[in-house]
Amino acid sequence: MLREIIVAHHQGFCMGVKRAIKIAEETARNRELGERVTILKEIVHNEAVVERLCDEGVGQALSVDDVPDGTLIISAHGVGPDVIEKAKTKGLKVVDATCPLVSRIYRIIERIIAKGYHIVHFGDPDHDETAGILGHAPARISLVANRRGLLALPDWPDRKLGLTVQTTAHVTVFDEIRALALEKWPHIKVFDTICEATTDRQTAVLELTPMVDLLLVVGSRSSANSNRLVNISRDAGGRGHLIGSQNDIRLEWFGKDENVDKVGVSAGASTPQFLVEEVIDRLVGISGGTARVTRLRQRADR
Ligand code: SF4
Repeated sequence: MLREIIVAHHQGFCMGVKRAIKIAEETARNRELGERVTILKEIVHNEAVVERLCDEGVGQALSVDDVPDGTLIISAHGVGPDVIEKAKTKGLKVVDATCPLVSRIYRIIERIIAKGYHIVHFGDPDHDETAGILGHAPARISLVANRRGLLALPDWPDRKLGLTVQTTAHVTVFDEIRALALEKWPHIKVFDTICEATTDRQTAVLELTPMVDLLLVVGSRSSANSNRLVNISRDAGGRGHLIGSQNDIRLEWFGKDENVDKVGVSAGASTPQFLVEEVIDRLVGISGGTARVTRLRQRADR
């Protein structure tokens, strides 16, 4: 019987996501009468957030080509300079909501490329952040998505090399990639660009997993960092499910034979808190109103 709901000490919106949403809301609020405001792709990977902005009259487009006029907001994941250039050439007003920790990678890349380095970037080929990073120096960055990709690259004994990583990468997997890179190229300069919010949320899930019988991660299917939290819990021997909202909770997870006394709750960096609270309320309801809610101590938000 469900007796306790334990909430991870770091979960939900990170600094970069809160900032991007605030920028989008302010832009919508301050627009001229009749001015079109469009977000390029999704401001963050969460349907509830996108829908809420849509209700405020903010449109969405997959490409600059689809935006005829008005203001274009760049999402927290960032874009390459070519995209911003194209938008400006088209006469669009550009509002940049790129997370400062993504911009930090752009600055690292620009700085070391100017010193003659070639970059090996570890990231998800399908992620918007990766497209923005590659867009900063397409000919000078080799993208690797896994160990195999890294091992397939040349030996480059005489080339100055730098290693960067997607802000939301799996911390442990990147440790392996870094070790492999240093073995292959002992002279490579490593820049650990995983953001602190990612590290905090992954650490919180690792700590929570052995404390609970089941872990629910609230997040969108399109959110890479939410999916990763589930995988991290499963790799640590936990039972984890990704749920978009309280509607995805299945009663059979709490059946008599499942022995779920304690359930953990976490959420990806793009998940709004109201969705997390709705999940907690539903879990309390499933327990018949008797489960205790324990919120693990949260340090300053990052
Ligand atoms: S996950 Fe990290 S890099 Fe991405 S928006 Fe949040 S703080 Fe910024």
